[in-house]
Amino acid sequence: MTDDEEYDRNCVCRDLESITKVGIDTDGEFKYILMKVKCSNKKHELPSVVIVRGYKRHNNHTDIFNEVNEELQPLCGDEVLGGGIITHDSNSKTINIFGKSDTYGEANHAATARLIREAYPDYKVTFNNK
Ligand SMILES: [Zn+2]
Repeated sequence: MTDDEEYDRNCVCRDLESITKVGIDTDGEFKYILMKVKCSNKKHELPSVVIVRGYKRHNNHTDIFNEVNEELQPLCGDEVLGGGIITHDSNSKTINIFGKSDTYGEANHAATARLIREAYPDYKVTFNNK
């Protein structure tokens, strides 16, 4: 098999453009992860995108990763950059980001806040890194 054939069969780089950057529950307090996603073709290190996912239905960060990684196939949840907790209040349009994951460590909440501000431009987004 040539490199070109492998490229065609496994490459999903273009799918990265349409991936939703921020997927979080609407209200309440829940755990979240910041993770890097890239093509499942291991030769394609670039491009990659960083996404935020957080859901009340999961009590730990690894469950979020497992769900998201499965849902993204054939894209590859390459690396979890850290985790934390989000509080989301859609009435007051505020989001606060803090805390850490026992498994993945503390995410760079400033990076998370940047992504959330793009997705929720009319919100007040705050964060606390330790
Ligand atoms: Zn690719």
